[in-house]
Amino acid sequence: MLIDLHAHTTPRSNCSRATLEELVADARARGLDALCITEHDVRWPDDELADASRLVDFPLISGVELTTDVGHVLVFGPLRKPLWMGYRLDELVDECEESDTALVLPHPLRRYAGERAVRGGRVPPTAEEIAALPQWEVVHAIEAASTQTTALEHTLTAAALTVAPRPSVGASDAHAPGRVGTYATELDRAVHTAEELATEIRAGHVRPARFRA
Ligand SMILES: [Zn+2]
Ligand SMILES: [Zn+2]
Repeated sequence: MLIDLHAHTTPRSNCSRATLEELVADARARGLDALCITEHDVRWPDDELADASRLVDFPLISGVELTTDVGHVLVFGPLRKPLWMGYRLDELVDECEESDTALVLPHPLRRYAGERAVRGGRVPPTAEEIAALPQWEVVHAIEAASTQTTALEHTLTAAALTVAPRPSVGASDAHAPGRVGTYATELDRAVHTAEELATEIRAGHVRPARFRA
C-alpha cells in the first residue's frame, strides 16, 4: 500500500495554500492508496475527517505535526494531553511507550543543515553526530525525504541512516497543490485507521517509496 504520511491543508495549517480537495486530487493522480492529514498542532476531529473522506471518496487518515522542543514531530494515534498544552519530546516518548501511538521525525535536519542553517553558515553535522541526536533514536521512523527538505538534507539523512539504521519513510509535507505523492511510503499491508498505521510504523514495516514526479 502506498501512502503519503504528511500533508497540510488550508485553512487549518495557515502555512498551506492547498485545499483538501486539491491534495486528494494529487493523491489520486499519483496512484496513492491513502493520504494522512497532519496539520500543525491541531488534529481534525474524527467525524469531520470521516465526512471529508466520504465526500472526496478517498481514504484519509488522521495525524498531527506537533511542535516540540526539538522541532516538529509527526504523531499517529491518540495522545492523552490536549494538544494546545504542548509536548516536549521526552513527554511524547514517555506517553507513546505506554500506548500504540507512533512518532515520525519529519525534516530531521532542518535545524542543522536546512536552508536557513546553511545560509547562516552552520557547518553540517556528520552522520555520526546526526545519529547521536536524541530524537534520532527515540522516534519510530525517520522522514528521509520530502518536498520541504533540500538535497543536502536528503544526503545527510541517508548517510546517518547507514550509520544508525532506523525505519524510514518518504512523505510530501505538501503545503501546495502538485506536491502530494512526490514522496510517499510503502506499507507491507493495507491500513484504514491511524491506529493500524501506527502499528505498522512501530513494527518498522515501512519504507520510502520511489520519487513520483
Ligand atoms: Zn514541519
Ligand atoms: Zn509539515
